[in-house]
Amino acid sequence: MASRLAVVCGGSRGIGAAAARLLARRGCRVAVISRSEAAARATAEALPGEGHVSLGCDVSRPLEVQRTFESIQKTCGDVSYLVNAAGVNRDALLLRTQPEDMVAVLHVNLLGSMLTCRAALRSMLRTPGAAIVNIGSVVGRNGSAGQSVYSASKAGLEGFTLSLAKEVAARDVRVNLLAPGFIRTDMTAALQEEDAALRVPLGRFGSAEEAASAAIFLLESPYVTGQVLLVDGGLQLAM
Ligand code: NAP
Repeated sequence: MASRLAVVCGGSRGIGAAAARLLARRGCRVAVISRSEAAARATAEALPGEGHVSLGCDVSRPLEVQRTFESIQKTCGDVSYLVNAAGVNRDALLLRTQPEDMVAVLHVNLLGSMLTCRAALRSMLRTPGAAIVNIGSVVGRNGSAGQSVYSASKAGLEGFTLSLAKEVAARDVRVNLLAPGFIRTDMTAALQEEDAALRVPLGRFGSAEEAASAAIFLLESPYVTGQVLLVDGGLQLAM
């Protein structure tokens, strides 16, 4: 992985920031993207190694995404790895979910990953061994009461990932989906430790590093594409 360029969307915090750290430790130059430029910069500045950059970009905005990837291309060169970790949740029962929340979740989680894949792809097609990891969720496969819109965004992302994997395999670009369960980040801050203890066979939350290390496995595995890798402590077995 040494000196390759990795772009991590949603890289300022949580699973994305952990992936950025692991990639930097392997010698990658990392472009950290999040809506907040200041937060992305703080994460990029703390990474080991050199050549990291940070950019503020809302991945749900097509023009912003296009310009951001053009700027990365200009300053850093071709993209080898793309991790799509930007995501939001607005969990509520459907009858209590406002249409604007539906749009926000679908735009960031689904459209956002489509836009960043599209913006990075031309550059990745030129890069031997390039790979994408999109981050879905175990609930995209199994559903979850109170998370219908979020689950739909992640199920859509799974279909998108498998289709794109077929589209670009002949050009040696691999595309996989990481599907985490309960991971301890800002997104799950409201959940209690007992929620995981009761529902997860391994009896605990996963850490951002545990989820991110599975993303690195997918990026590094030259014969793995079109896969969904659950990192859920066995949660799916209990759903
Ligand atoms: P997190 O700690 O809340 O971090 C979310 C990241 O996404 C932040 O860097 C945030 O930065 C960025 N982001 C949000 N909206 C964005 C936008 N419109 N444009 C650009 N960046 C945006 O979340 P996490 O738990 O690490 O989640 C990472 C991914 O894993 C998400 O896709 C999430 O759905 C998925 N996931 C998480 C869990 C879990 O248990 N934590 C389980 C299954 C799946 P800014 O706020 O600065 O934009």
